[in-house]
Amino acid sequence: MTATTSDIEKAAEVLRAGGLVGLPTETVYGLGANAEDLAAVARIFQAKGRPPTHPLIVHIASAEHLDDWVEEVPVTARLLAEHFWPGPLTLVLRRGRRVPLEATGGLETVAVRVPDHPVALALLSAFGGGVTAPSANRFGSVSPTTAAHVRAELGDAVDFVLDGGPCEVGVESTIVDATGGTPTILRPGGVTREDLETVLGHPVAVPATSGVRVPGQHPSHYAPRARVVLVEPQKVITEAELAQEQGHQVGVFLPASLADASVNAHAVVALPDSVDAYAYGLYGFLRGLDQRGCDLIIASLPVEEGLGLAIANRLRRAAGPRHSV
Ligand code: AMP
Ligand code: MG
Repeated sequence: MTATTSDIEKAAEVLRAGGLVGLPTETVYGLGANAEDLAAVARIFQAKGRPPTHPLIVHIASAEHLDDWVEEVPVTARLLAEHFWPGPLTLVLRRGRRVPLEATGGLETVAVRVPDHPVALALLSAFGGGVTAPSANRFGSVSPTTAAHVRAELGDAVDFVLDGGPCEVGVESTIVDATGGTPTILRPGGVTREDLETVLGHPVAVPATSGVRVPGQHPSHYAPRARVVLVEPQKVITEAELAQEQGHQVGVFLPASLADASVNAHAVVALPDSVDAYAYGLYGFLRGLDQRGCDLIIASLPVEEGLGLAIANRLRRAAGPRHSV
């Protein structure tokens, strides 16, 4: 199933011809286009149903190419790139001239990352340029973590999908504003706040997600079809059973120790004890509950340490008000 060398060559050809490629990364699957091809970039927004003001991430083959895509690289940004790339860290820097405004949602900053996945890196090397890629899902919905999810989400809107197996991290990259001064986390993700603090040697802030720096931030994102309701950990079972009795098809997230057959719900997800395994499974759990016909998902937030910070961020956004209403 994993992409062969000839698949990678074909995908590079599709990018050169202005097409869209579904590509595996260690975080989630991306919907990639040649970052310098305006028509191809426009097709990404069309395929996803994404507002044009919502910026994309430019993926590059190695930290050595960073200077080609940004205006300048502050010392701290260089340190982070050298330390975490390839890896689930995206750096927001001042936009270089090579990056069209269409890819940055009109911003003078650009988000750049080197993904840590052999198939993505092989594609980036074969292609030679920057590949701009958001997650390969319809705007607002759950990110894909397998090639099959990409095909199910986007169908014919994607020209070619490279299969690289299930994504190892399972949640998106950590986005850090590294334009100058003290770096801050714009979106928690695969590189933990603690890892960043160790490398930087000082605390790193995570400003409210409604911050003005990220346009197109909708309160609802990463959302399954079912409504997501977050409750206190000790109330998960009672709230789930109440809603089930009221006629909902309830899917419930429970720690493995509590997830036995006696819980009255339509579907029970037994959460792994390790937060890394939880992140790995998160989007699959949400998709699975949709597939099983749940209309309501009841969960609580994990402790916000390590990948727990990113999981809590995604669950809050999944539970946020829907942008269609
Ligand atoms: P996704 O489409 O899920 O891959 O998400 C891309 C993320 O990168 C979104 O949350 C964007 O808002 C964010 N992003 C991309 N470019 C920038 C930028 N220049 N400044 C701030 N956030 C950005
Ligand atoms: Mg996304």
